[in-house]
Amino acid sequence: MADDTRDSNQNGTASTVVDSGAPPKKLRRGVVLGKDGKPCRSCNSFVDFTSQTKTITKSTIGHSLVATGPPLACPPDVEELGRSSWTLLHSITASYPISPTLTEQSQVRQFMGLFSKLYPCWVCAEDFQDFMAKNRVRAESREEFGQWMCEAHNDVNRKLGKKEFDCSKWEERWRTGWKDGRCD
Ligand SMILES: Cc1cc2nc3c(=O)[nH]c(=O)nc-3n(C[C@H](O)[C@H](O)[C@H](O)COP(=O)(O)OP(=O)(O)OC[C@H]3O[C@@H](n4cnc5c(N)ncnc54)[C@H](O)[C@@H]3O)c2cc1C
Repeated sequence: MADDTRDSNQNGTASTVVDSGAPPKKLRRGVVLGKDGKPCRSCNSFVDFTSQTKTITKSTIGHSLVATGPPLACPPDVEELGRSSWTLLHSITASYPISPTLTEQSQVRQFMGLFSKLYPCWVCAEDFQDFMAKNRVRAESREEFGQWMCEAHNDVNRKLGKKEFDCSKWEERWRTGWKDGRCD
């Protein structure tokens, strides 16, 4: 992170101050800026993003600002992007071979490395890269990769103050469906 500073807010994302010499436009506390200096859609919740970019009026409050996410067919906020991404990532672990070849293991490590660099919420991406630097991708089997992904997700859950997921259940959640048959 070359020209930005940030501190934590209640979302586990960050408030960002652009260090350009000139004072930044007044920001609501906790709104994350993109590298272009504008509020970052994929780094903020929809409510935080629109509260920065829109004048809040009675009619706005009655509509989108009280919603939990962006209206249908709008660019994703940090939560929608996160849910979709975790769905993809855990589904990749679910379809990963039980006994992968060395090539498959290498491909999955490359994928995770690139994913962590390209993730559109840059503050999330930086923290995920830190996690990966301390916790090398384990992918010598499907079970190992599924556990690693679950631990990676729990690391973000902890940061956001969310309940941790029981990783012994990752395969029921993402591959087989629950033992009680509700997914069948
Ligand atoms: C790499 C990455 C980094 C992120 N970093 C940030 C961040 O810094 N700040 C921020 O505000 N948001 C971040 N997010 C988004 C955040 O993790 C959530 O996706 C978002 O807050 C929506 O949360 P949710 O409660 O809907 O459920 P999600 O956390 O999206 O989880 C979706 C579903 O996955 C299952 N699940 C939950 N935990 C686990 C687990 N450990 N293993 C397996 N399954 C599980 C549950 O069934 C849950 O309903 C990040 C997302 C990703 C993919």
